[in-house]
Amino acid sequence: MPAEKLQFQAETKRLLDLVVNSIYTNKEIFLRELISNASDALDKLRIESLTNTALADDKEPEIFVVPDAATKTVTISDNGIGMNRDEVIANIGTIAKSGTKDFLDKLREASNASAQELIGQFGVGFYSAFIVAEKVELITRRAGETSAVKWTSDGAGEYELDDCDKDSHGTTIILHLKPEFTGDDNEYNFTDTYELERLVKKYSDFVRYPVKMNFEVKGTGDEPSTIEIRTVNSMKPLWTRNKSDITRDEYNEFFKQQLHEWEPPQEIFHVKAEGTVEYTALVCIPAHAAQNLYYADYEAGLQLYSRHVFIMDKCKDFLPDWLRFMKGLVDSPDLPLNISREILQQSVEVKVIGRALEKNILKQLAKLLKDERERYETFWREFGKSLKIGVYNSMFDTKAKDELKDLLLFQTSHDGKLSTLAEYVERMPESQKQIYVAAGADASAIERLPQMELLRERGLEVLYLTDPVDEFTIEALHEYAEKHFQSITREDFELDDAESQKVKAEVEEIAKTQGDLLKDVKDALDGAVAEVRLTSRLKSGAVCLATGANSPSLTMEKTFAAMNNPLFKATQILELNPNHPVYKKLESLHAAGKDSPDFKAVCKTLYSVALLIEGVMPKDPVELANQVTELLTK
Ligand code: ADP
Ligand code: MG
Repeated sequence: MPAEKLQFQAETKRLLDLVVNSIYTNKEIFLRELISNASDALDKLRIESLTNTALADDKEPEIFVVPDAATKTVTISDNGIGMNRDEVIANIGTIAKSGTKDFLDKLREASNASAQELIGQFGVGFYSAFIVAEKVELITRRAGETSAVKWTSDGAGEYELDDCDKDSHGTTIILHLKPEFTGDDNEYNFTDTYELERLVKKYSDFVRYPVKMNFEVKGTGDEPSTIEIRTVNSMKPLWTRNKSDITRDEYNEFFKQQLHEWEPPQEIFHVKAEGTVEYTALVCIPAHAAQNLYYADYEAGLQLYSRHVFIMDKCKDFLPDWLRFMKGLVDSPDLPLNISREILQQSVEVKVIGRALEKNILKQLAKLLKDERERYETFWREFGKSLKIGVYNSMFDTKAKDELKDLLLFQTSHDGKLSTLAEYVERMPESQKQIYVAAGADASAIERLPQMELLRERGLEVLYLTDPVDEFTIEALHEYAEKHFQSITREDFELDDAESQKVKAEVEEIAKTQGDLLKDVKDALDGAVAEVRLTSRLKSGAVCLATGANSPSLTMEKTFAAMNNPLFKATQILELNPNHPVYKKLESLHAAGKDSPDFKAVCKTLYSVALLIEGVMPKDPVELANQVTELLTK
């Protein structure tokens, strides 16, 4: 193949511009990025040679870091999988990493100052070479192939590809350092062996392959100095060390490098278990939920290791779906090295480890909730939805529901703060038999529901369902501590204290004489509601909407409508307060004639008002506007 010049993909070019223009504050990280790529390449070779024995050779995997003051270069080489020409074009010339795309999108929206911060947090992988190099050469030969290819670029707009010679498979990257990174007068001198050694130890200590460097050993007397090759990193994976010896910074750095968690995780769980199966897990709750966490394209799963050797990424079989946000790894000597995803799914060991790990995480979450409420609430705000979906999805799995129900938080009318179900029940007066819930767009929408007035007056607490998934969760739970959930906007809601029962009896007495009126109101609404009735649940409010006992709520109807599923319709019941002055007006208009335009107009307006209170837009807002203006002028 002849030499060719190629253009970087547009997005790559943007990223390179950012890197080259050196807004990147931490100049050192290029080394950890290149070493981590080398380590990935060694992993890939090992895994591929399991199924393709032709690739196996007797060379020990290793990574070399060689600074050279004379040529002002640093060379990082590995004997891993390598790349062929097409792979170089695909992997180095384009940005395939979804994370990078996300990053660039975020960057586009960010202000200048926060852009710098973002760049500081984010690893740009291979391109970080251009932080310190004015020219980068990459010489690589794919394992199993005979020809090698050389990639050269100054990071501007294009790169060059050419055939070249290379003795064995693997990749060699030569960084031609910018002048400010060489020589002892500068802040950094990356041609200095000891400076590089320090960086390898700092950033790549637990890389699982030896990172080797040449060290000059001065001869004694007249003897010339010799070169000694030493392995710089300890190769002891972080998770194999004792918890008490690991600092939070080390953990954070680990998640950054190994799992691309650019922000320090919220919580880190490091579990070592011995027993029927032995395993170590190092997992975290990330700082933020991924944007696509609840979408099909989100790839959940943990990394899998056996005796510290990487087996596979994104293994979904350990944790239940409601823990899909967890990141991290499981290392177990009980797992075979050579294992396919299919076999893994059926592996008893994986099931046992997964279940044990899940239980452990449940326990830690419960502990966090009990001992460190604020931290738990931070977690809840970011990932609570996941747990709620978990309850809903385990509708028929009582064990899962039992495990999750005490981890749920809801806002309530008690003090607007987040509350567990147990705390709600704890505050319930003796006489209260049910857990009252109300759905709405947010707390203030629920607080303004006319039905809330009576409960407030009686000092009864209401659980707010403000997330579309909340109602489904409550529905799936069915009850908590033998108390059923009761929506205060459902037709079968009533209070059973003496005062409420008295008012109810009075209203029922009035209702006996109002049959015609209620029927005519219903007719005037042309089938919009299933029933019109008098209510004892309102105090100062004139109207409200209730939903049928077996129907979805109006909030749920809205959720489904937003998902283009208009089949989910709430059964609406219009409730009128017979003690409200407007009801008297309705009565007199009715007496004047049920077909009169005035009677119909008031009926329709009242219905529209009831809809608006629920946050539902009336079908014909212009008609409502006209009716209101007309009523105002009367
Ligand atoms: P990431 O490592 O997150 O995939 P990088 O920008 O660091 O992103 O690397 C891009 C890709 O280039 C890698 O996914 C890999 O396919 C390829 N690559 C980089 N370095 C090497 C290497 N030393 N050996 C083989 N392939 C490499
Ligand atoms: Mg990388």
